[in-house]
Amino acid sequence: MISVARTGSHLCIESTLMSVLAADMRTTSYWLDGIPEEPLLQGETPNRVDVAIVGAGYTGLSAALELARSGRSVAVFDSERPGYGCSTRNGGQVSPHMKPSMVALARRAGDKKAFAVRKTGYDAYEYLGEFIRAEGLECDFERSGHFLGAHTPGAYEAIARSEPEDVRQFGYEAYAIPRSDQHSEVGTDAFFGGVVYPQWAKIDPARYHHGLLTRANDAGALVFGNSHVESIQRDGKGFHLRIGSAQVHARDVLVATNGYTGPSTPWMRRRVIPIGSFIIATEPQPESLIRRLSPKDRMISETRKVVYYYRASPDRRRILFGGRVSIGDATSEYSAPRLHAAMTRVFPELSGAKVSHCWYGFVAYTFDELPHIGSHDDVHYAMGYCGTGIAMATYLGMKSALKILGRPQGATALDDLPFQTRPGYFGKPWFLAPSILYYKMRDAMMR
Ligand SMILES: Cc1cc2nc3c(=O)[nH]c(=O)nc-3n(C[C@H](O)[C@H](O)[C@H](O)COP(=O)(O)OP(=O)(O)OC[C@H]3O[C@@H](n4cnc5c(N)ncnc54)[C@H](O)[C@@H]3O)c2cc1C
Repeated sequence: MISVARTGSHLCIESTLMSVLAADMRTTSYWLDGIPEEPLLQGETPNRVDVAIVGAGYTGLSAALELARSGRSVAVFDSERPGYGCSTRNGGQVSPHMKPSMVALARRAGDKKAFAVRKTGYDAYEYLGEFIRAEGLECDFERSGHFLGAHTPGAYEAIARSEPEDVRQFGYEAYAIPRSDQHSEVGTDAFFGGVVYPQWAKIDPARYHHGLLTRANDAGALVFGNSHVESIQRDGKGFHLRIGSAQVHARDVLVATNGYTGPSTPWMRRRVIPIGSFIIATEPQPESLIRRLSPKDRMISETRKVVYYYRASPDRRRILFGGRVSIGDATSEYSAPRLHAAMTRVFPELSGAKVSHCWYGFVAYTFDELPHIGSHDDVHYAMGYCGTGIAMATYLGMKSALKILGRPQGATALDDLPFQTRPGYFGKPWFLAPSILYYKMRDAMMR
């Protein structure tokens, strides 16, 4: 009897949860709506190229564009369609932010190195803005600013004190907004104030990816979908790549697989930690409501370690709300109603808004929380963007290309950072669930 009663209440909770999902909820990225499906390249893969690139996201395509424009023959291979990975699934929040704080980095590497590493984030950010402008890419890139909401009074005091000074050393601006004024930035009482970064930007990630793909194609790079690179083996002065029944010889190889790095590159796989992150999109809402919730079109994130991040859609009719609600692996069907619940804790006015899309992707964390660029056994890589890769992936893709071209401008402050792994880690992060649980508890206990 008891178990029937429990099952009944469980079913009731589940059906209440599910009632917030639109009947036709899609589990594909909202950003892909309206993006023309690129016809996959037909025909034979070439036998020989100067450079083969594994992964057709921002990193791979940015490198391909630079290399093709410098006269190299380039083939980019993606297991799925180009852009299948994070580059068409992300939150569209663009910042120069790197995870470790200046203080934490300086403790590890000294003040000078910490500054140089953090500055790479700002260089990447400036590079992206200039690249989009110079290429004339239409992707809703706009410096509409970012609001970091403090989830506790203590967090507010800490960020109000540290953040303006932190970004000022790089020539940027940030200022604190007390709780009493925060409705001018975001329509919620959920925060204890926050910090505004007025120069940080938003982007439509899939339109940006589409523009990059078009430019790479126009420059002569060959971009293949449905082309899983199964192995990369040294062959004389170059490498042999096995892609299904095809073999390609390349003088140089760049691995640009980030959170999708797999068994064909085991050394790299041991160094990145794939973490699933989910996003929901609401159905269209009244414009006046979105104006109240997002009056200045800021990108929004929070001081929690297990972070939620959100924004209005470019047409300002929906809220896109991202984060991680499960401790272990989860599906979109599991995450969507729970993200909706998290969203309505921030924006109670959205309690009746149904979820039209829920999707996820794998970001790549690293053990030192920094992105990495370099080569191992002469195979180049750029990866490990720790959830903030829109600018950095574009930048390090370009820098990888310059390294392959042998140009000194390919150097970065990240070049000499050891790309760490841990004993017993082979690419399946068994420690993720306990770590997320620990950080969720820490977030909840913070005052
Ligand atoms: C939900 C979510 C939200 C995010 N939000 C933000 C944000 O707001 N701001 C921000 O800056 N960043 C964000 N990110 C991170 C950002 O999207 C990534 O850092 C960036 O897109 C990485 O680009 P990439 O080209 O390196 O990798 P990806 O775009 O992930 O591309 C890697 C590609 O490699 C392919 N691949 C893997 N193995 C092989 C193989 N063996 N052979 C052939 N192909 C292979 C995959 O199919 C994939 O398409 C978010 C990510 C997610 C998932």
